[in-house]
Amino acid sequence: MANFFDDNEDIRFLFEHLDLRALATVQEDGFPTGPDVHEESPRDAEDAVDNYRRILSIVGDVAANTIAPFAESVDHEGNRLNEDGTVTLSRGMQESLRALGQADLMGFTLPRRYGGLNCPNLVYTMAIEMISRADASLMNIFGLQGIAETINAFADSSIKDEYLPRFSSGELTGAMALTEPDAGSDLQAVGLRAWQDTDGQWRLNGVKRFITNGCGDVLLTLARSEPELKDGRGLSLFLAERGPRLKVRRLEKKLGLHGSPTCELVYEDVPAKLIGERQLGLIRYVLSLMNGARIGVAAQALGIAEAAYRVARKYAHTRKQFGVSIERLPAVADMLVDMRISLEAARALVYEASRYCDFEMNNQRVLETNPPTDADELKRRKSEARVWKRLNGMLTPMAKYYASEMSVRVANDALQVLGGSGYMMDYPVERHLRDARITNIYEGTSQLQIVAAVRGVCGGAFERFAEELESREYLDKDLHEFKAGLVEGRARVMEGITFVKEQGTDYMDLYGRKLVDAAATVLIGHFFLRQAERNERKRLVAARYIRCGLQSLQADMNMLLSGDRSAMQEFETIAGEID
Ligand SMILES: Cc1cc2nc3c(=O)[nH]c(=O)nc-3n(C[C@H](O)[C@H](O)[C@H](O)COP(=O)(O)OP(=O)(O)OC[C@H]3O[C@@H](n4cnc5c(N)ncnc54)[C@H](O)[C@@H]3O)c2cc1C
Repeated sequence: MANFFDDNEDIRFLFEHLDLRALATVQEDGFPTGPDVHEESPRDAEDAVDNYRRILSIVGDVAANTIAPFAESVDHEGNRLNEDGTVTLSRGMQESLRALGQADLMGFTLPRRYGGLNCPNLVYTMAIEMISRADASLMNIFGLQGIAETINAFADSSIKDEYLPRFSSGELTGAMALTEPDAGSDLQAVGLRAWQDTDGQWRLNGVKRFITNGCGDVLLTLARSEPELKDGRGLSLFLAERGPRLKVRRLEKKLGLHGSPTCELVYEDVPAKLIGERQLGLIRYVLSLMNGARIGVAAQALGIAEAAYRVARKYAHTRKQFGVSIERLPAVADMLVDMRISLEAARALVYEASRYCDFEMNNQRVLETNPPTDADELKRRKSEARVWKRLNGMLTPMAKYYASEMSVRVANDALQVLGGSGYMMDYPVERHLRDARITNIYEGTSQLQIVAAVRGVCGGAFERFAEELESREYLDKDLHEFKAGLVEGRARVMEGITFVKEQGTDYMDLYGRKLVDAAATVLIGHFFLRQAERNERKRLVAARYIRCGLQSLQADMNMLLSGDRSAMQEFETIAGEID
């Protein structure tokens, strides 16, 4: 029987390679014993990792045998907005969500006391990838488990007790209601109003647009609770429930993800519960929610690319032109090899980013809930917290940017490999391309991810992380040489960083993409070297990736060091007049 975990050599390889035992140990607080420990808690790291493997195999089964067969009909059917303001999902979405709930997969990262599986984010990332390979639009509901995670991290215990077990069972689904007509990339401009009535009950008034699953049961809503403060400090986060005062006014018609309802919402004095503290809505809670969601979208991008690549790979093998399979034609072979390596490169980066988020979040949890009494241990943990925060501040947006751009490229190339057939609706690659195209827009566009990542690249996080990766010695002669290339590459990036800093912030934003690409090449090159130590095929992957990557890095740094500012200085002349 098909299984999207069992048939994916690279996910299974990374599952073994990425030391999940260490992750399980921090996730499970070192496997304590005693009467307070939940009966389903793993005994030790081996037991925990076996459990993750088993869970991923169940996801792989549901993805391949329940969700994937519906993907085509879900795309055609879409969703329906009813006269009473409710939304009916396609039959396939309903069936798939039911199957995920029945398999206990809707509380992936929640603690066991709320009915969750207490999995690390990395395991959830792998699951999202497999679900997205089956149907990217279903991932938009499965992947919204960050809503429950945010409630778990920041809401008071009565809210957690009321909602979290129902999220885990699949009874409730949620939405993240941030965007408004005048507040897209710039969420500091959110204007939806939150006010308290005479009983002290919070109420929400205003409009949100482009809200994925806005027809869901629980909407985490960013609203202005302090009207006198016009920036992010005036915003708080609220939990609002679907009801007569919260209406879906319209369902967006869009290029892809037809199974995922994108809603415009009207709030009319909707009663709401404050999450955590006032004024921390954007600056703390939404930032945390979005960081998780960015890794989720990066995983969605991987899943779509995997699906598209597989169609192209098979087609190139069976399609004959000029008397041979087209996979034997150099141009097609080159495209397929690039697609596969780009996909594995993005996966290496996304999984590493996800793993470091796990370390950061678990450390933070311990510091907040059970800080060490030993002063040295407390100091060590606090210092680690700072290091991981800085590293993830760079890696998370870098991974989201890199994976989503890769996904669009790979889906586009997959369609090209199929020629005219790719443009027809007889094959799923046109859907994959339509679905991939949103991943570099929502949860922050690629440009915004670059703005965030380049601050880390230029602010020391890249240099420290690269140094750490460079400290690994390779006895193998080839790997040693590849590493020397990466060390030289890093030096070139450092030259670029120094130059950019002398030029100012505008120049950093102008060349942000080139800097982030170059930094990602160096980091991924090192990830591939480590993989290559354990796997012969990965040596070839690493060799080609590093060879091509260093060429582009050199070209990008040459352009950056040239001081060319024509895009800004000659904008009017080159971009032309508006009609
Ligand atoms: C299908 C779909 C589902 C969505 N789901 C949700 C959801 O569930 N919840 C939610 O709250 N929102 C959701 N969104 C909204 C989404 O997050 C925003 O569309 C996105 O953040 C971009 O905002 P915008 O569309 O207003 O574009 P704008 O902010 O107007 O950006 C337009 C262009 O300007 C660029 N730009 C803007 N600012 C900068 C900058 N500082 N530096 C460089 N370039 C910049 C952008 O990169 C982009 O190219 C969804 C959107 C879509 C299309």
